[in-house]
Amino acid sequence: MVERQIARRGITSPRILDAFLDVPRHLFIPESQHLFAYQDGPLPIGKGQTISQPYIVAYMTKHLNLEGEERVLEIGTGSGYQAAILGKLAGEVHTIERHPSLAESASRLLRDLGIENIHVHVGDGTKGLPDFAPYNAIMVTAAAPEVPTPLLDQLAEGGRLIMPVGGRIGQVLHLYQRREKGVQREDLAPVAFVPLIGDHGWSSP
Ligand code: SAM
Repeated sequence: MVERQIARRGITSPRILDAFLDVPRHLFIPESQHLFAYQDGPLPIGKGQTISQPYIVAYMTKHLNLEGEERVLEIGTGSGYQAAILGKLAGEVHTIERHPSLAESASRLLRDLGIENIHVHVGDGTKGLPDFAPYNAIMVTAAAPEVPTPLLDQLAEGGRLIMPVGGRIGQVLHLYQRREKGVQREDLAPVAFVPLIGDHGWSSP
C-alpha cells in the first residue's frame, strides 16, 4: 500500500511514509473488511461513514507540512486512522467526532496501540474546539458547502487548514493558510467525502 499507492504517486517524505508503515490500517476497519484493508479505496466503518482512501489520507497530511511539535485539530475522527497518522507527525492531536460510538471505539483502539498524544472528543466539530485553540494545523475529513468560520478563527498565525468544500456529491480540497494579512486559499484537487453535519456545515445527513 505504502509503496504502490502513496510513494509511487509522488508522496515520498520519509516521515510520512514511516508514519503509514507504523499504523496497521486493518485494525481500524471492521473484521468483515479486513481482506480489503490495504486496497486503494475508502471502506465502510459503520454509522454510514468511511475510512478514507490511503492516498487521500497521505495527500491531505502532506499539505499540513507537519514537523513534529504542532498542535493539530482533526474534525471527523471516524475510525481514528487519520488521527493515528497525524499523531505520528505532530506533537498533540485533538480529534472530534459526532457519533459517540465511533469516537469510543477509535479512542479505545488508539489507547490499546499505546498512542498517547491523541485526544478524542465527541461533539459538533464545525464549532471547532476552542478550549485548546489555537491550532497550527486543522484537517476536516468531511465535506461542507463552505469552510466553518470558527475553524478559521481557531487557526494559529502561519497555520494551515485543509478540507473538502463543495456540494453533496463532489468537492474540491481547499488549503487555507493564516497569514499576518488574512487567510489565503489554494484549490488542490477534486474529491468525494461524506457530509460534515453541524451548525456550520450541512444541517442533515
Ligand atoms: N478521518 C476518518 C478516519 O480516518 O477514519 C474518516 C472520516 S469520515 C470520511 C468523516 C467523519 O466525519 C465521519 O465519522 C462523520 O461522522 C464525521 N463527522 C461529520 N460531521 C461531523 C461534525 N460536525 N463533527 C464531528 N465529526 C463529524
